[in-house]
Amino acid sequence: MPLEQLVLASGNSGKLKELAHLLEPLHMRVCSQADFDVTPPEETGLSFVENALIKAREAARVSGLPALGDDSGLVVDALDGAPGIYSARFAGASASDADNNQLLLERLAGLPLERRSAHFHCCLVMLRSAEDPAPLIATGTWHGQILEAARGQGGFGYDPLFLDPKLGVTAAELTMTEKARISHRGQALNALIERIREA
Ligand code: IMP
Repeated sequence: MPLEQLVLASGNSGKLKELAHLLEPLHMRVCSQADFDVTPPEETGLSFVENALIKAREAARVSGLPALGDDSGLVVDALDGAPGIYSARFAGASASDADNNQLLLERLAGLPLERRSAHFHCCLVMLRSAEDPAPLIATGTWHGQILEAARGQGGFGYDPLFLDPKLGVTAAELTMTEKARISHRGQALNALIERIREA
């Protein structure tokens, strides 16, 4: 499917940077929904895929262009899957990354590392238009553990607390290129690119 231009349906600057970086090899014109004054829609879904679809559809509707929605979050086993789809608003509607990280540390206080397992999940949905009846959907997961204190300056969100046990570093200690190679978002985007090529 020939795709020349794509609107990224997100207002999260960390995500936008990563998605633009991941899409570079496709040489398409990538813009953000802010370029079209898209008001971020309410995320009323109960799953990542529903929310990714809501975001992509609104961006496609307002811009009149194909749109890529990303809904992602951190799933912590000891918290029965929280914060999950509520990752961005874990500590409240206008919570900062620091607020969310602080609350996560409080909720896990006293738990040893072996009980601090978690994974990031990313769902990407691509719509060719707002009425596209057959969205392209891809997901990715990245397993790790939640540390007791932040490490690293890179990335965004929960990255400084998320340890990749195989590498022995947090997501915030990886470069953007290193993170893209293994992250939930990198995996989902590679899978989506396959779907785009097959479509
Ligand atoms: P969304 O914009 O509603 O999908 O919320 C995504 C939230 O999940 C972000 O605000 C972060 O808190 C978290 N998140 C998603 N992906 C990542 C990541 O790659 N690193 C760290 N946090 C992430």
